[in-house]
Amino acid sequence: MGPSLARLSASKSANYSGASASSPNPMPCIPSTLCVKFSLMRNVVIIGSGPAGLTAAVYAARANLSPLLIEGWQSGGQLTTTTEVENYPGFAKGIMGPELMKEMRAQAERFGTEFLTGHVTAVDLTPRPFTLTIDGEHTVQADTLILATGASAIQIGLKNEARLTGHGVSTCATCDGFFFKGKELIVVGGGDSAMEEATFLTKFASKVSIVHRRDKLRASKIMQDRAVKNEKITFVWNSVVEDVLGNHVVTGVRVKNLVTGKVTELPCAGVFVAIGHRPNTNLFSGQLDMDAKGYIRTTQGTATSVPGVFAAGDVQDSTYRQAVTAAGSGCMAAIDAERFLESGSHTL
Ligand code: NDP
Repeated sequence: MGPSLARLSASKSANYSGASASSPNPMPCIPSTLCVKFSLMRNVVIIGSGPAGLTAAVYAARANLSPLLIEGWQSGGQLTTTTEVENYPGFAKGIMGPELMKEMRAQAERFGTEFLTGHVTAVDLTPRPFTLTIDGEHTVQADTLILATGASAIQIGLKNEARLTGHGVSTCATCDGFFFKGKELIVVGGGDSAMEEATFLTKFASKVSIVHRRDKLRASKIMQDRAVKNEKITFVWNSVVEDVLGNHVVTGVRVKNLVTGKVTELPCAGVFVAIGHRPNTNLFSGQLDMDAKGYIRTTQGTATSVPGVFAAGDVQDSTYRQAVTAAGSGCMAAIDAERFLESGSHTL
């Protein structure tokens, strides 16, 4: 998407005249047309549209804080690339990830959350109000900021893995599984994601081999059992993928057994990498305290090292990383932001 396509939208209940904006017209964009450069100012700005960001929006909107939520062009976060979510409370029969996110967004919108679609390209957390640059040219100022930028899939780091991404290499079975009807596939990893992806892929594939670097899975018992019982799934233990083979599309992988040192080639039409996630915190590096893996450190609930900046969801949680814990911390962040503003720390 081009830089000047940032788009602002809100439910009919949003009160624009009550929102402080340094531009006389806080609705600068007409969908599908080029937007004028804009500058906005808000009490609460939320970056991220996964369960953490959207729950923060519901709570902040219901507290009359008129939150602005900045979402990327692929709204909804990681759950939009998953299949059925069986462990989110309230859905006895399970719910599809994209459907759950659609409902969360509608709920946030219902209470007056404004949505701005665009990429945050820079953040300045030094003076308050904080300044965000959107798509390199628009600015948003925030009295309080809730960071809910989540995490992204980790790649193995092979040259041919990158070259063949989109041509057989994928990190999203839900998105790409359909293209592999009757084919043999490889899934890399030993966690819940790998088990879930492999099990889902058996709907299409003739065979799925899970390549795992140890002889023990990290996945939860229920997910392991489901994969182990599936007749289409086999395990390649103590092994790593050393190379992805194929000129224009994937034709196989080269696998090394870490115990015997033996290298073998496994033919396959697709490689699904499911080896975990990395927090999306590059934008804030050097401005906030983070741990060695780049997760934002939070104390006293969701407070970060900068007063007025709060973090929620996977961006600050390397332990639980569940939709429900992300939603819970989104709620906490909104309440923390509200209390911070109530304590008289307004700049607006
Ligand atoms: P995890 O971190 O749990 O697992 C990552 C897996 O990839 C591990 O088995 C790890 O091996 C392996 N791995 C890591 N790096 C490499 C590498 N460079 N090369 C080869 N293998 C590697 O990540 P997940 O994405 O599976 O899960 C994250 C969280 O999300 C978990 O809490 C999980 O429970 C949850 N989740 C829940 C689901 C559900 O309930 N439906 C579905 C998916 C995820 P090793 O074990 O040796 O460290």
